[in-house]
Amino acid sequence: MQGQPAVSSTVSKRRFDVVIVGAGGSGMRASLQLARAGLSVAVLSKVFPTRSHTVAAQGGIGASLGNMSEDNWHYHFYDTVKGSDWLGDQDAIEFMCREAPKVVYELEHFGMPFDRNPDGTIYQRPFGGHTANYGEKPVQRACAAADRTGHAMLHTLYQQNVKARTNFFVEWMALDLIRDAEGSVVGVTALEMETGELHVLQAKTVLLATGGAGRIFAASTNAFINTGDGLGMAARAGIPLEDMEFWQFHPTGVAGAGVLLTEGCRGEGAILRNSNGERFMERYAPTLKDLAPRDFVSRCMDQEIKEGRGCGPNKDYIVLDMTHLGAETIMKRLPSVFEIGHNFANVDITREPIPVVPTIHYQMGGIPTNIHGQVVAPKDGDPNAVIGGLYAVGECSCVSVHGANRLGTNSLLDLLVFGKAAGDHIVASNLKAEPHKALPANAADASLARMARLDASTGGEYAQDVANDIRKAMQMHAGVFRTQALLDEGVVKIREIAERVKSIHLGDKSKVFNTARVEALEVDNLIECAMATIVSAAARRESRGAHTVDDYADTPEHPNGRNDEEWLKHTLYYSQGQRLEYKPVQLKPLTAESIPPKVRTF
Ligand SMILES: Cc1cc2nc3c(=O)[nH]c(=O)nc-3n(C[C@H](O)[C@H](O)[C@H](O)COP(=O)(O)OP(=O)(O)OC[C@H]3O[C@@H](n4cnc5c(N)ncnc54)[C@H](O)[C@@H]3O)c2cc1C
Repeated sequence: MQGQPAVSSTVSKRRFDVVIVGAGGSGMRASLQLARAGLSVAVLSKVFPTRSHTVAAQGGIGASLGNMSEDNWHYHFYDTVKGSDWLGDQDAIEFMCREAPKVVYELEHFGMPFDRNPDGTIYQRPFGGHTANYGEKPVQRACAAADRTGHAMLHTLYQQNVKARTNFFVEWMALDLIRDAEGSVVGVTALEMETGELHVLQAKTVLLATGGAGRIFAASTNAFINTGDGLGMAARAGIPLEDMEFWQFHPTGVAGAGVLLTEGCRGEGAILRNSNGERFMERYAPTLKDLAPRDFVSRCMDQEIKEGRGCGPNKDYIVLDMTHLGAETIMKRLPSVFEIGHNFANVDITREPIPVVPTIHYQMGGIPTNIHGQVVAPKDGDPNAVIGGLYAVGECSCVSVHGANRLGTNSLLDLLVFGKAAGDHIVASNLKAEPHKALPANAADASLARMARLDASTGGEYAQDVANDIRKAMQMHAGVFRTQALLDEGVVKIREIAERVKSIHLGDKSKVFNTARVEALEVDNLIECAMATIVSAAARRESRGAHTVDDYADTPEHPNGRNDEEWLKHTLYYSQGQRLEYKPVQLKPLTAESIPPKVRTF
C-alpha cells in the first residue's frame, strides 16, 4: 500500500478505553468487570453474542464446592496438574482452582439457572479425570444446568452486560492488531460486515477473547466461526503462540457428524463398549474406567478400533451405551443429548447405544499470558515480559492451566476466572486517567492490503477449497495417533497450502454482508493456526498428553513416551520464519506444595 494516504483520511476511527474482541464467556466476563467500573468498552463479535461457541458447552463448570461428595481445591489442583501431564503452570492452576468456588457462586448470584439438589445447593456431576483424595475415586465437581450449562452461562453473562451498558458491535470482524513503534498495542482494525467497510478502533487496551481454532480440523465439535482469528492476529503482529501442538480429541463426537455428546453422559453413568459389547475401559483404567481423562480415553478407543473391535459394518466406531440410565434420568439430566441422538444419528438413546468416535474439540495452546491475562513474550532475557496494551483470555489464550491435556469443565471455569482477573487488572491500572497513545500513520495498512488483495483477484482458488485442504491435511497428519513421519510430511503439505492462501480468489466483490469475503479473510487465520500446530508438533520429540507420537512409545526410561529431561518446557512458535523457542514450565505453585512429575496412570 505504498503511497497510500495516512489512515485518518481513508478509514473511520472510533475510540474506547478498552476494545474486547469476542463475546463468548471469557470476553463477556471481562467486559462486565470493565463496564461496571465505568470504563468505555466495545465488544466486537462476528455473531450475535449469545451465538458464540460457549453456548454449545454442555457438561458443566468445575469447582470444588463439595455439595455432593467431599472435595477441596487441593484435589482439584492435583487433578488439573496430573491431567495436564505436568505441562500446566502450577501457579496459574492453583489460582484457578482456588478462585473456582468464588466465580461459580458469583455466577449463581448473576442469575445462572443451575440444576439444584433437594437441599437447594448447586447440582454437581462426576467428570473425566476429576477425583477425590488424589486419584482414589471419582468426585462430583461439575456444576451443571442439565446439559446446557454453556447456554445458561452465556445468556446470564449477556443479560448482566446489557444491564451494565456494555457496547456491542455485532457482526464486526476484527482483522489485525495495531502496534506502535514501541510494540504496544493501541487498537484493532475491523470489518463491519453489514457495509463491508474497514474501521480503526483505537484503545488504551485491547483484550482478545476470540475462542478456539477447532475449524483447522475436518472432524470437529466446534462452531464454524471458530477459525482462530485472535491467534492469527497475534501471530501476524509478531507475538508468539504457545504449545500449539496440543489439541484435545473428545472421545464422544457422534460418528460421521462430529456433534458433541457431553462427557456428562459418562458422568451420569454412560458406558463405552466395543463390538463384543465389552466395557473395555475397565481394562485400560481400572480406577476411573470411562471417566479417565480425554486424551487417554480417545487413545484407548483408537486402539480398540485398530485391533478390530470397532463397531458397525466397517468396524470404525465405538458405541456409547446409555440405555441402562432410564428415560427419566436422560430426559432430566441429558435432554439435549437425547435430541442430538435423534437428529444426528437417528438413534433413540433411551433404547439403543449411539456410535461415537474421538473428534477434535479444544486447543490447549494459544496466546501466552500471565495470571492477570496480560499477553507475555520473551524479551531481554525475561521469558514472560508483558506486551503493553494487550490481554488475552479464554480458549485463544494459554496461561497455561491445561498444559498438554485439559480436564472437562476446566474451560468454562478458566473463562470465568481469567475473564474476571483480566477485567480486575485493567480496572486497577487506572486507564481512565491515561491518555490514548497515538495511532501510527500506517495503522490500517496491513488490513487494507489484505482487503485490496482480495478485491484485485481475477482468478484462482476459492477460500473454501483451500480451507478444506487445510482441514484434510491437519486431520491426516496431526490426528489422535501421530507419527514423526506423518508430522514431517504434514509440515511440507501445510507449507504448500500456505502458498496457495496468498492467491485466493474472491469471485463476489460486493460489500454488503459478503460472507465470501469474511471466509476468505478467515483463511489467513486458519493457516497461521495450522502452521503453528504442525511445526510445533513435528519439533516435539516425545509423547505428552494429547500429543502422542508412535515413535516415542512407552519405555522403562520414558514411561508413556514422556521425556521430562528434554521436553518439560513450553513451545513458543513465531510466524515470522516459523521459528521455535522454548520456555520453562512453572512447577512452583503460589502457596501449595509443588506436585513433582510422575507417571500418569488411572
Ligand atoms: C460442543 C462443545 C461443548 C463444550 N462443553 C464444555 C463444557 O461442558 N465445559 C467446559 O468447561 N468446556 C466446554 N467446552 C469448551 C468451552 O466451551 C470453550 O473452550 C469456551 O466456551 C470458549 O469460550 P471463549 O470465550 O474463549 O470463546 P467463544 O465462546 O468461542 O467465543 C468467541 C467469540 O469471539 C468472537 N470472534 C472470533 N473471531 C472474531 C473476530 N475476528 N472479530 C470479532 N469477533 C470474533 C466470536 O464471534 C465469539 O463471540 C465445550 C466446547 C464445545 C465446542
